[in-house]
Amino acid sequence: MTGGVEGCVFCGIVAGSVPADVVHRTERSVAFRDVSPQAPTHVLVVPVDHHENAAALAAADPQGTADLITTAAAVAEAEGLTGYRLVLNTGREAGQTVFHTHLHVLGGRSLTWPPG
Ligand code: AMP
Repeated sequence: MTGGVEGCVFCGIVAGSVPADVVHRTERSVAFRDVSPQAPTHVLVVPVDHHENAAALAAADPQGTADLITTAAAVAEAEGLTGYRLVLNTGREAGQTVFHTHLHVLGGRSLTWPPG
């Protein structure tokens, strides 16, 4: 799906109508700092096109899915992270609160496992 979805905050960030600290951009993805960081580096990578979750993105746009991960790796390198965690919360039970696919890039501190 192309074009922004009305009322979607991440579509607004992609379009530039919602302010965000954008750190990286490709033709298919936009990376910006999470407004409520859970680690020294906490960046969200979103596809330019609106897809509700990672499975929907993967089904519709495999190249866009790959771009999300290569963008995350570029962000991690730019931030000087030697280890980092990528998270795709999918569904409310898993903690998804924004229904435009977003890949969390977390790093800069020790991360425990399992997550809460
Ligand atoms: P999730 O809970 O996986 O859906 O993650 C949504 C994330 O989006 C949370 O970590 C929020 O802090 C973050 N978030 C929500 N609105 C914004 C915004 N306007 N700019 C940056 N991050 C945001």
